[in-house]
Amino acid sequence: MGYEKSIAAFAEAKTLMPGGVNSPVRAFKSVNMDPIFMASGSGATITDIDGNTYIDYVLSWGPLILGHTHPEVVKAIQQVAVSGTSFGAPTLLENELAKLVMERVPSIEMVRMVSSGTEATMSALRVARGYTGRSKILKFEGCYHGHADSLLIKAGSGVATLGLPDSPGVPESVAQNTITVPYNDLESVRLAFQEFGEDIAAVIVEPVAGNMGVVPPQPGFLQELRNLTTENGTVLIFDEVMTGFRVGYNCAQGHFGVTPDMTCLGKVIGGGLPVGAFGGKREIMEQVAPSGSIYQAGTLSGNPLAMTAGFETLSRLDESSYETFIERGDQLEKGFREAAETYNIPHTVNRAGSMIGFFFTNDEVVDFASAKTSDTALFADYYRLMAEEGIFLPPSQFEGMFLSTAHTEEHIAKTVEAFHTVFAKLAR
Ligand code: PMP
Repeated sequence: MGYEKSIAAFAEAKTLMPGGVNSPVRAFKSVNMDPIFMASGSGATITDIDGNTYIDYVLSWGPLILGHTHPEVVKAIQQVAVSGTSFGAPTLLENELAKLVMERVPSIEMVRMVSSGTEATMSALRVARGYTGRSKILKFEGCYHGHADSLLIKAGSGVATLGLPDSPGVPESVAQNTITVPYNDLESVRLAFQEFGEDIAAVIVEPVAGNMGVVPPQPGFLQELRNLTTENGTVLIFDEVMTGFRVGYNCAQGHFGVTPDMTCLGKVIGGGLPVGAFGGKREIMEQVAPSGSIYQAGTLSGNPLAMTAGFETLSRLDESSYETFIERGDQLEKGFREAAETYNIPHTVNRAGSMIGFFFTNDEVVDFASAKTSDTALFADYYRLMAEEGIFLPPSQFEGMFLSTAHTEEHIAKTVEAFHTVFAKLAR
């Protein structure tokens, strides 16, 4: 498998864009290789510019839950494109996606469409602050909520991968309004409420953390966050940008049976085009301009192409899709464990719906500190060897793998074969 064209493309890209990329995790830095430039995708597979084909578990970092270039989704996008790509005036397509989202996520009584997950979380925080008249927010270490200033504190994803917990450029005056505590650590949340309760506008949480690898909530964690926020008049925000329509048909909140005040969405609701959304209780959402005075806007928000891709994608998911994700996940997990045990590779597996996290540690992974016990040097070797076997994984230990409805038993079996080949080379 050669990467000559990718290597040349990256050399040029580095002269054009910081680090050669438009989003840091694409630089493959933590796995010590140049990024692979992609040319096309079809179903569960993608092909790079050198002509190598891979089974794809990145799926554009989550959005492509139906796999690449689903024929019906592509057809719908093409049909809409010829009628106009953006009007800056409302279209019926916005109503359609809003209704569908609200039907699947009953806690969303009103929704506002935006163009990225970052916009969704940034706007939700502003709304929570405006609604409560409070300044502070509480987030969890290793959770990533996009790159708005107040959320770039002890964040996960690329921030964790690159070891940049507190980005320069975030003013101290902003950072001091963000309280961070370990994920799954209710005692620290209680202490924070004891100290700052009256000032905490919002608790924002990934209901399954997916930006430090996959870390599910421990039993009772989300419910107790619900109780504490209610007691303290704090807005509970579920950041379901990643978990939304991935962890379950009714998102993570439906799966765990805990109802937040506000929800942020992204990724899957755009079906591969730029969409985010925030929504929640009508009483809160009515504070947003123009019905209320909390300002939020976007030139391309709700644009026809993005609404169509989202609508067509969500329409093709049903309860049985999630049952299939569990079956495929079981097959993948079993294969991974067997291969790791055969070759004495330390491992821990965490899963939620179509999100799967493999860690190279024998410790239980429940928060960012335990995620960091994973052997990242081993991960880097594993990563490169898996790519050689035609398996495209997220290039960081601190990211999860995703399944799509296009992943078949055969794709998983081929991936399991690759685990065996790769672990045989890495055997201890
Ligand atoms: N929240 C979560 C939970 C995410 O995983 C991400 C992106 N990975 C974001 C917010 C930011 O979304 P975007 O990259 O679309 O701005």
